[in-house]
Amino acid sequence: MNIILLGPPGAGKGTQAKKIQEYYSLPHISTGDILRENINNNTGLGIKAKSYMSRGELVPDELLITLIKDRLSKKDCDEGFMLDGYPRTIPQADALQMILTESGKKIDAVLNISVDDNELIKRLSGRRMCKCGASFHVLFNSPEKEDVCDACKGKLYQREDDKPEAISNRLNVYKKQTQPLIDYYDKKKILRTIDGSKDISQIFEEIKKVLEEYDKKDTK
Ligand code: ADP
Ligand code: AMP
Repeated sequence: MNIILLGPPGAGKGTQAKKIQEYYSLPHISTGDILRENINNNTGLGIKAKSYMSRGELVPDELLITLIKDRLSKKDCDEGFMLDGYPRTIPQADALQMILTESGKKIDAVLNISVDDNELIKRLSGRRMCKCGASFHVLFNSPEKEDVCDACKGKLYQREDDKPEAISNRLNVYKKQTQPLIDYYDKKKILRTIDGSKDISQIFEEIKKVLEEYDKKDTK
C-alpha cells in the first residue's frame, strides 16, 4: 500500500503517520523530518533549505524531487510507503507520478486531513517537538512530564516555524501552492477526505476504516 497524507500544516499528519506506521508497518517518509535532519547535520541540502524553512516557505521543487526520488529507491519502500509533507506542489506531484511509473508503482490512496484555520493556529502554536521525532501539544496532547518526551525523555522544543509570523506564512503558502493538490488527486479518484477536527484516536479509527479497503484489495 502506497499512501500520501495531505493536509495543511498542523492538520495532524505526523501524529497519524506515527500510528499508521506502527499499525501497518509502513515506512513513514516525512520530507520535513528529512530536511530538519539535514539542517542538524549541516549537509549541503540542509544549508540550502534552512532559510526557506525558518520563514515558512517551501524549499525549491528540484531539491525535494531529488530527495524523494532517492528516498523512494530504498529497499524499505518496496512493500509500500507513506508520504507525509510530499508532494506540496503540482510539479512535485507530477514528478512523483513519473518516478513511480518508472518503477511500476502507483499511489493507492491520498488521505486529505481537513481542519479549519483557527484550530490549525492553536495546534501549531502549542506544538512541542522532540529530536527523536515525537510531537506533543501543550494542551491537546501533553507529555506526562512538562517539556520532556514520553518516548525518549529528551527535552522538548518549539520549532522555529511554529512561531506566529511563520505560521501565518505557512498557511498562506499551503493555500496557494498545496491546496490545488486536493483537486489534482480528486480527479484521479484516489482522494479520501478525513475530518481532522476530531480526537487523535477517533481520526485514526476513521483512517483505519479507509485503509482496510485498500489492504483487502492488496491481498486479493
Ligand atoms: P502536521 O504533521 O500535519 O503538521 P502534527 O501531527 O505535528 O501536524 O500536529 C500538530 C499539533 O497538533 C501537534 O502538537 C499535535 O500534538 C496536535 N494534534 C495532532 N492531532 C490533533 C488532534 N486531532 N486534536 C488536537 N491536537 C492534535
Ligand atoms: P513539515 O515538517 O512538513 O511541516 O515541513 C516543514 C518545512 O519543510 C516546510 O514549511 C517547508 O519549508 C519544508 N518542506 C517540507 N516538505 C516540503 C516539500 N515537499 N516541498 C517544499 N518544502 C518542503
